[in-house]
Amino acid sequence: MPLLVMKFGGTSVADLARIENAAKKVQAEVARGYDVIVIVSAMSGETNKMVGFVEGTSKLYDAREYDAVVSSGENVTAGLMALRLQEMGIAARSWQGWQVPINTTSAHSSARFISIPREHIDAKFAEGFKVAVVAGFQGVSAEGRITTLGRGGSDTTAVAFAAAFGAERCDIYTDVDGVYTTDPRITNKARKLDKIAFEEMLELASLGAKVLQTRSVELAMRYKVRLRVLSSFEDTDENSGTLVCDEDEIMESKVVSGVAYSRDEAKVTLVRVEDRPGIAAAIFGPLAEAGVNVDMIVQNISEVEAGSSKGATTDMTFSCPVNQVARAQKAMEDAVAAGTITYDGIVVDSDVAKISVVGIGMRSHAGVAATMFKALSKENVNIKVIATSEIKISVLIDRKYMELAVQALHDAFELEKA
Ligand code: ASP
Ligand code: MG
Repeated sequence: MPLLVMKFGGTSVADLARIENAAKKVQAEVARGYDVIVIVSAMSGETNKMVGFVEGTSKLYDAREYDAVVSSGENVTAGLMALRLQEMGIAARSWQGWQVPINTTSAHSSARFISIPREHIDAKFAEGFKVAVVAGFQGVSAEGRITTLGRGGSDTTAVAFAAAFGAERCDIYTDVDGVYTTDPRITNKARKLDKIAFEEMLELASLGAKVLQTRSVELAMRYKVRLRVLSSFEDTDENSGTLVCDEDEIMESKVVSGVAYSRDEAKVTLVRVEDRPGIAAAIFGPLAEAGVNVDMIVQNISEVEAGSSKGATTDMTFSCPVNQVARAQKAMEDAVAAGTITYDGIVVDSDVAKISVVGIGMRSHAGVAATMFKALSKENVNIKVIATSEIKISVLIDRKYMELAVQALHDAFELEKA
């Protein structure tokens, strides 16, 4: 039997009526001849509520108990989905992570998959069951404790099952009808993409397009799982939504596929750092250890100040999420106290946003950066930091110009046109 994985996010299973609506989508695929593995999230709001319960009970909570509590929302929806399917006359049963078992590492609240043995679920399909409903987001550690995969982790559960069971496709049902060229709330010219390459989706996901958990895209890319994002609130068929796939499947792609943004960035500059071999390691090592997610890095040219007894110095600038600035500052102060670095001061700019244009076509096209910078300059938007990769150009700008910049770039690359 061909097999499909269908994942329903929190808003798609938010109440009994929506669970019934989702079950009808499953019924349609069963009618088309598929065996189906359904992965469910918790009803929307439930996981947040349970995180609140844990935090309200214990400040320095035991991560194992946190996972025991916050994983429970998925157990409810898995059971309800199985019941609803049974009411429709479809042979279905639910599975919690430990019952499969979904074996993970014991890194609680950010566990990773180790293995998903197929035998129990395969045996049920062989008995004539049509649907296995699996609770997303959770697994079990070698110690036998319940684990969770990090917020948004049900997407990753779905892709992992699609890979383990050789599914024809992994359909991610959500409250939007696909992946857009940019956030439609910022410009109504945003256009839904029919297809997007794994690598592009990975950049968009990690840059703040919140449709899919980044890890699910990484996993899909590694195992070449064709992934489709579509709405559970619309009538859908085999052409609905956006297909995230290998770039070979995309015949003609535009140079730029999308504009992504990340609102809450900060820019940190260490002023007049002593410039010597090893200084970057002495700065970014402690930042990494402190869990600061450094993204862009710029080192200025080195200079020797006239009349100064110091040797050459340079300014070192990096960006990180705004809520990590305090941690970054502390790590730098500790490094100074330990005598591993010296600088004259730290300048923090907490009012910046990162805007990026992404596209695999950039590999073979020149002039993308020039077009981007011209569009920003036309709007008088000052660029503070620039970083590039093979398929992406990112800039830091003042946060108050973020929407304007996204709109200008969307226009400049004519993303409204197919
Ligand atoms: N329910 C979990 C969360 O809210 C996992 C998920 O929905 O993907 O993060
Ligand atoms: Mg989600």
